[in-house]
Amino acid sequence: MFVVGLTGGIGSGKTTVADLFGARGVDIIDADVVAREVVMPGSRALVSIGERFGADALNADGSLNRRWLREQVFADPAQRQWLEALLHPLVGQRIRALVRESTAPYCLLVAPLLLEGNLHEMVNRVLIVDAPEALQLERTLARDGGDRDTVSAIMAAQLPRQERLARADDVLDNSGDLEELVDKVARLHESYSRRARNHD
Ligand code: ADP
Repeated sequence: MFVVGLTGGIGSGKTTVADLFGARGVDIIDADVVAREVVMPGSRALVSIGERFGADALNADGSLNRRWLREQVFADPAQRQWLEALLHPLVGQRIRALVRESTAPYCLLVAPLLLEGNLHEMVNRVLIVDAPEALQLERTLARDGGDRDTVSAIMAAQLPRQERLARADDVLDNSGDLEELVDKVARLHESYSRRARNHD
């Protein structure tokens, strides 16, 4: 199965682009959704996290207290390494299973952290959706509300735009309007469908 990895900064248009590919019959796999699934109540991973971090790691309803855990691993690299060693293989396995089960012409793996982690190893092509930072900021504020400083801080913590672009096989420039984006996705879809047909 041919897999395209889609990434980009906050507000660059990943979700919008994924929806456009989805409408063309491509199977969309969302790495964030998978990352939540592997720690659902009842999962082995959640039990392991509870054993290591104690009851604080769980909400009253038994689900993972993500915010608390994020703070713990942010403050302690050893804990972060332990958590990543637990979760990365599980996320990878689940994504591979979804790819195997897919009957679509190809799959699109949407992953905000595609380039930061090891997920790029399981894709055949890296597609970056890109917009000027000012536009990313405006679109994120229009979508989520919130304040400029918070969104700017998130952007500053992400991979710098040029570094991200340097890792791309294809760049989808989303500085234009939606109509333009639809056309660009259509062209990329043609190219990926062709590549997928030639891929064994
Ligand atoms: P991401 O998933 O990368 O954070 P989204 O796809 O949610 O980004 O896009 C951010 C916001 O900008 C959304 O509200 C989306 O509808 C809007 N948007 C995306 N692309 C365009 C575009 N070309 N023109 C206008 N608005 C856009």
